[in-house]
Amino acid sequence: MPIDPVCRMMIEENTAVASSDYQGKTYYFCAASCKKSFDDDPERFILELSRYGSQPGQHPRRWLHPFARKKD
Ligand SMILES: [Zn+2]
Repeated sequence: MPIDPVCRMMIEENTAVASSDYQGKTYYFCAASCKKSFDDDPERFILELSRYGSQPGQHPRRWLHPFARKKD
């Protein structure tokens, strides 16, 4: 299951809100704001993802999850 590299949530490909291609790999996001953060600085999130991996319980608190901030 793909992982949102920004907030590191597990994402179902068919329910992903957004996706982004970077260096031949597709990344999926739980929210448009996650995609935007990724697109601003993909290297940083890929590095963080490879460093922390997808282990449950390692969700970082550093980034406020944008889930509740839905703008329309
Ligand atoms: Zn996210």
